[in-house]
Amino acid sequence: MKYHFNYILPFVIVLFTACNNNQKMEETTQQNETVFPKGERITNDNFTGTVWLNYLAETDTIHNVNIGSVTFEAGARTNWHYHKGGQILLVTAGKGLYQEKGKPIEIIKKGDVMKCPPNIAHWHGATPTEAMTHIAIGTSTNIGGAVWLQPVTDEEYHNK
Ligand code: MN
Repeated sequence: MKYHFNYILPFVIVLFTACNNNQKMEETTQQNETVFPKGERITNDNFTGTVWLNYLAETDTIHNVNIGSVTFEAGARTNWHYHKGGQILLVTAGKGLYQEKGKPIEIIKKGDVMKCPPNIAHWHGATPTEAMTHIAIGTSTNIGGAVWLQPVTDEEYHNK
């Protein structure tokens, strides 16, 4: 019996170590990945900085919503804009900023849900130092979509 135990033990140790390393690797990967790929880089003038968009669901004759995952690299943000049918933001990664006209800038982070009321000018984006990803849900798209306004200046973004 002693012979068998000494023979098997090193293999048990190797197996245990391998499993433990795998678990650590999975945990690290989960922390760095978002559910949806970041998609294509946005090249229009409605944004400042580097922003990525993955369209997840477009409005159709049955569903009056459009849904996209938007990733803002540090310093990036939308222009000022409003949504005729409103919008809901689900923050899925990182830390960002949200501001409605005439109100203070709010910090938003992974797990936060923001409701943007219809026809209220606002902007959203990353913080100056951290990226942020949110799923943007355009609601009541039968009423209307986004109306784009002027860029958020550096003074506005840094709240000077
Ligand atoms: Mn918006």
